[in-house]
Amino acid sequence: AAAAHHAKQKAEAGELTIFDKIISKEIPSKIVYEDDDVLAFRDVSPQGPVHIILIPKDRDGLTQLSKAEDRHEKILGHLMVTAAKVARQEKLDKGFRLVVNDGPDGCQSVYHIHLHLIGGRQMKWPPG
Ligand code: ADP
Repeated sequence: AAAAHHAKQKAEAGELTIFDKIISKEIPSKIVYEDDDVLAFRDVSPQGPVHIILIPKDRDGLTQLSKAEDRHEKILGHLMVTAAKVARQEKLDKGFRLVVNDGPDGCQSVYHIHLHLIGGRQMKWPPG
């Protein structure tokens, strides 16, 4: 029973998402930025004229932001700085919105942490 429990925990920790297939290029995506640690690609269901998803290539336990630990500071900072670079690259000079959906209340559907960079239109507040 202990071994089975352990195996289940391992499976959950290493569970693959669609983003792993995007990272491995097993499924195609429109990549707008890539380096050793981060990948940014166009969302298939864009919520604005520009909608880009930014992800760490190594999930390292970050299925969602609420799992963040001290060791994740570097990659989380790198994702934010990359979002700003991509926003400049996309000429979002009037601004944009950066979103992290966490868990069921946040409407998260893919459990590999990601930033949504949305722009090219006037946003509303509060969000839905
Ligand atoms: P939500 O689906 O509520 O936006 P998330 O914050 O988990 O939840 O966002 C996942 C995002 O990934 C969605 O905006 C979705 O359109 C996008 N997405 C899912 N599959 C792909 C794919 N193959 N290529 C690009 N974007 C994708």
